[in-house]
Amino acid sequence: MPHRMLLLGGTTEATELARALAKDRRIELIVSLAGRTLRPVLATGQLRTGGFGGADGLARYLTDKAIALVIDATHPFAAVMPFNAAAACLRVGVPLLKICRPAWVPTEGDRWTSVSDLHEAAASLVASDARRVLLTTGRQELEPFRGLRGITFFVRSIEPPNLRGFEAATAVLARGPFDLNAERALLSGHEIDVLVSKNSGGAATAAKLEAARELGIEVVMVQRPAMPEVPLVDNVADAQRWISARLMDRSAK
Ligand code: NAP
Repeated sequence: MPHRMLLLGGTTEATELARALAKDRRIELIVSLAGRTLRPVLATGQLRTGGFGGADGLARYLTDKAIALVIDATHPFAAVMPFNAAAACLRVGVPLLKICRPAWVPTEGDRWTSVSDLHEAAASLVASDARRVLLTTGRQELEPFRGLRGITFFVRSIEPPNLRGFEAATAVLARGPFDLNAERALLSGHEIDVLVSKNSGGAATAAKLEAARELGIEVVMVQRPAMPEVPLVDNVADAQRWISARLMDRSAK
């Protein structure tokens, strides 16, 4: 009998891990997405969509579906789900692993201002003399920027953002990965003077930082939210090793 595994997704790591496990006969994989993206990149495995109803709902789901392992591969900025997963898994005694890619760190030539959240990012734009800002924080993260005056925003997102309330804003619809040439062209073409980014880490969206460094553009970098203290790896290969070890533990029992 294969072991049923729940993979909390929404990231490239989740898609990669699902692909890597597709032919693993020891595992029956269920991939869970929040359902925010209308046309998500589909992973292999059974797909379920939508919230569980908090930690209680997830605990019930784990028990009902006889889940043997949970991998939390949600985004580094998913601030709620990791705590729900930690609480639910602890309560029902299911092993949990979190995959979280390393954060980006500034290198020579970078002009970063680190802020702790999006409100601080918006305040930092007001305090600086930013005029033309590329926002890459996602279409669901626009509230703190909506009322700002005197700034033209370029809002990059996968799906069309709601730009109501912005004095001047243009949508830039695109899905990563993004390459350096395209990022250079975007930043210089729109004469961007400040880039706002969450410190998501990873290769798929890192080119904007390299382009900003080359062009001397300031970056307002939003730091990550807190994470629960659970077993953690920063890449898919280590997650596979952890899964194999847990499956061997189970088989030995
Ligand atoms: P969040 O604040 O941690 O989660 C909010 C609620 O959404 C959770 O309480 C849960 O609802 C539901 N949820 C989140 N991830 C889920 C999943 N994989 N499967 C089922 N339900 C899920 O997360 P978020 O920031 O809204 O992000 C939502 C999803 O988008 C996550 O899967 C994340 O990996 C992905 N994502 C987020 C970002 C970002 O910057 N935040 C960027 C790229 C991708 P219930 O409490 O009802 O279970």
